[in-house]
Amino acid sequence: MEASVPPALRCARCGAAVDGTQHTRSGYVVGYYLLRTGRTEEAAVRRRDDEAPITYRRVVEPFDVVSCLRCFREPDVHRLWLGFGDQP
Ligand SMILES: [Zn+2]
Repeated sequence: MEASVPPALRCARCGAAVDGTQHTRSGYVVGYYLLRTGRTEEAAVRRRDDEAPITYRRVVEPFDVVSCLRCFREPDVHRLWLGFGDQP
């Protein structure tokens, strides 16, 4: 077994390395914003044989978008966040 070191997170827009959220006694400081998105497909789940299947959007290729605090305030990044789920 190899010890796995998580790769350093970088802002998807400007490439700046971002720090994780710092927890302090009085609260926490957000170091970056993370948007989990990805390609989705329609999937159906049936809990019991006599039930109609429920269709839902399944994320088949999860993709994380990291944004530093500075870029998060930029309009184009904000649009990306607001458009979450609207894949072309
Ligand atoms: Zn940035």
